Amino acid sequence: MTKAINEVYSTLKGHFKGSLRRPDDAEYPDARRIWNGLVARRPGLIARCNDSSDVQAAVRAAGSAGVITAVRCGGHSLAGFSTCDDGLVIDLSPMRKVQVFPEARSARFEGGCLLGSIDSATQTVGLAFPSGVVSHTGAAGLVLGGGTGWLNRLHGLSCDNVRGFTVVAADGSVIHANSSENADLFWALRGGGGNFGVVTEFEVTLHPVSAVLFGRGICPGDEVLGLLRHWRDFMPEAPDNLRWGFSLRNAPDAENIPADIRGRPIASVSALWVGGLEKGRRYVDHAFAVGNHKAITKEVISFSTLQTLADSDFPHDRRYYTKAGYFKTLNDESIGIMIDALATNPSVTNEIELAYLGGAAARVAPGETAFGDRSSPFVLNLLGNWSDPADDAANISWIRSVFARLRPAMVPGVYVNFMSGDESDRVPEAYRERWGRLRTIKTVYDPRNFFRLNQNIPPMTAAGSS
Ligand SMILES: Cc1cc2nc3c(=O)[nH]c(=O)nc-3n(C[C@H](O)[C@H](O)[C@H](O)COP(=O)(O)OP(=O)(O)OC[C@H]3O[C@@H](n4cnc5c(N)ncnc54)[C@H](O)[C@@H]3O)c2cc1C
Repeated sequence: MTKAINEVYSTLKGHFKGSLRRPDDAEYPDARRIWNGLVARRPGLIARCNDSSDVQAAVRAAGSAGVITAVRCGGHSLAGFSTCDDGLVIDLSPMRKVQVFPEARSARFEGGCLLGSIDSATQTVGLAFPSGVVSHTGAAGLVLGGGTGWLNRLHGLSCDNVRGFTVVAADGSVIHANSSENADLFWALRGGGGNFGVVTEFEVTLHPVSAVLFGRGICPGDEVLGLLRHWRDFMPEAPDNLRWGFSLRNAPDAENIPADIRGRPIASVSALWVGGLEKGRRYVDHAFAVGNHKAITKEVISFSTLQTLADSDFPHDRRYYTKAGYFKTLNDESIGIMIDALATNPSVTNEIELAYLGGAAARVAPGETAFGDRSSPFVLNLLGNWSDPADDAANISWIRSVFARLRPAMVPGVYVNFMSGDESDRVPEAYRERWGRLRTIKTVYDPRNFFRLNQNIPPMTAAGSS
């Protein structure tokens, strides 16, 4: 591999406009790090691209040298796909330009943007792109996998709001994909992840959003069953403007937590209303009507504030491991398993996240995009989050065992962006009836599986079979 990566470096160094980082460079230790500290790999070369022609050059050089290649936007892949050992990282972090077109309610942003770069630009004119809930997440990986967040019940998933992509394909050519050009690729890129090429630019739809009503509270463990029953029964009829969800966890030993519940199981509750405030107050009040909540706050905040509220809960360099899935209905037994599991939770920052999808995201027809299941509204994400490498085994084993206990009540399906790096066997499950079409499109655009560091959709073999 050393010879091959040196060949890539020699090919690029004369004309590459961005920077090339190798293991001996002073900047390499920083350039190599990704968000998840559990994934520490050492690429042979990191090519930080300044523009689309840099991306083309890097793809061509790595393709002809046969070098394993990772693509990086924000580096937040939970699975650690945006790095590799010995190979090339095509890093788009210098490519963060955002252009907003208020009249057209649209924006164009480059393939290295973080969510925060997009929010800052769009909020100056009171518009918003539906994306995720942590502003330091990369937009490219999030949008290509689907993209869920505060606005998805009202305005759909991130991928539902994409009008077009500009892509550097596996042969280094630049392709446009939208409803009239390369429509098959346009379909696949809306949920199919980084399998089809490097997206250098996204064109997206924006929506008017400025102030929102946001409620938070803490429900003690012995009240959580009643609260989740209240939620599961209410959400199917709830307006799209309401996004109400939970993080089940052990309460930290922190000043803002009432002393009598510190260390004990709790549900952290959030209830967001986007729309007319008078009506919203009734719904947010309803979210806290059952459960004897502590530390309730209900406030009108700016969308920009909302988008950064969770930033400090998920810092870089900690160790993260996840398993996710869907429930069609949420039964009492599953709720009981989640609450019981907190008694053996090895880290106070581990969470069992529960969200209700539905709304606009669920009204998009299943075949309209490549995104996985839209029909099972209860979304579960078990998120392990700890700091000491000595605790890896205990935390990973806890996540796996809770998942194994819940799995029988789940329906097949998983959101690719909430998967870990050890779940390649679940990728067909993520796409289900879309799997065959995705493989056919992959075979057209990336027949040699150059883009394989992702939740991989392998091309058909030359014989056209698997
Ligand atoms: C703190 C945190 C919060 C999150 N919150 C949410 C959330 O609210 N909603 C949600 O839906 N998801 C969320 N996620 C999951 C998130 O969607 C994925 O981790 C996503 O992959 C992050 O994108 P990224 O660009 O930072 O990833 P990277 O690690 O840079 O890349 C991830 C994958 O995308 C591919 N990729 C990256 N850039 C490009 C590109 N320009 N062209 C083609 N392929 C590319 C890579 O090859 C890789 O396979 C969160 C993750 C974290 C860590």
